[in-house]
Amino acid sequence: MTTGTGTRPMVRISSVRKCFGAVEVLKGISLDVPVGGVVCVVGPSGSGKSTLLRCVNRLETIDSGRIWVDGDLIGYAERDGRLHHLSPAALSRQKQDIGMVFQRFHLFPHRTALENVMEGPVVVRGVPKDKARTRAMELLERVGLADRAGHYPAQLSGGQQQRVAIARSLAMDPKLMLFDEPTSALDPELVQEVLAVMRDLAASGMTMMVVTHEMGFAREVGDDLIFIDGGVVVERGNPREVLAAPRHERFRAFLGQVL
Ligand code: ADP
Ligand code: MG
Repeated sequence: MTTGTGTRPMVRISSVRKCFGAVEVLKGISLDVPVGGVVCVVGPSGSGKSTLLRCVNRLETIDSGRIWVDGDLIGYAERDGRLHHLSPAALSRQKQDIGMVFQRFHLFPHRTALENVMEGPVVVRGVPKDKARTRAMELLERVGLADRAGHYPAQLSGGQQQRVAIARSLAMDPKLMLFDEPTSALDPELVQEVLAVMRDLAASGMTMMVVTHEMGFAREVGDDLIFIDGGVVVERGNPREVLAAPRHERFRAFLGQVL
């Protein structure tokens, strides 16, 4: 693994294959995300984007290949030159470093915005409530929702709920944030407020993998753009360059549909 300054990968995905039954959904995916880098993953529906993200935080197991996050092999430990499955407790600790934001917000409906953000640190980490509350307020402020702390999810717009979901992930102090089409379920006028929060997060140095159809975001914020089709990486490069001059016909056809 490279360890030179600025090139150390936060995520290294190496020759990952994943099948569901007889269907091979990821057919040997390799990519690196450097520390502080933002990789945007685009591709048609069913191409394996969500599966790829889900493999990174072990919501899915992989059939072959390796995934490292911050140098740790995901799901395994190496002992005596052999790979051993991590214990559930060790896996749970490993996953705490990886935040994930979904298309649907999955907030606890009977808890306020503040309580949603406090939940992880208090329940999983045993952080004292006062401390967790202070930090949760800071995070709600960061996503522009300090004045909504006492609101329940049903009293918030979709964009506000998604910003609470981002704050909730950040409360666990992740090293890496995964976003799976975070704005796809939102009314068009609410998309930008969520992208603005993600832009700030990227600017703060967070390492991010973002599945999105928002090419404007990819162009402005992405360090790398990966186009996946049929479980393989078809095209990759600097987003501004590949969007201006897509090389592969499948990527051109895809852009014709989303732009
Ligand atoms: P994308 O996010 O790019 O739309 P997905 O990663 O969700 O694609 O899905 C890729 C393929 O894997 C699809 O054909 C989907 O039907 C299939 N798939 C995803 N999850 C499962 C699952 N849990 N069981 C069986 N097939 C699945
Ligand atoms: Mg998906």
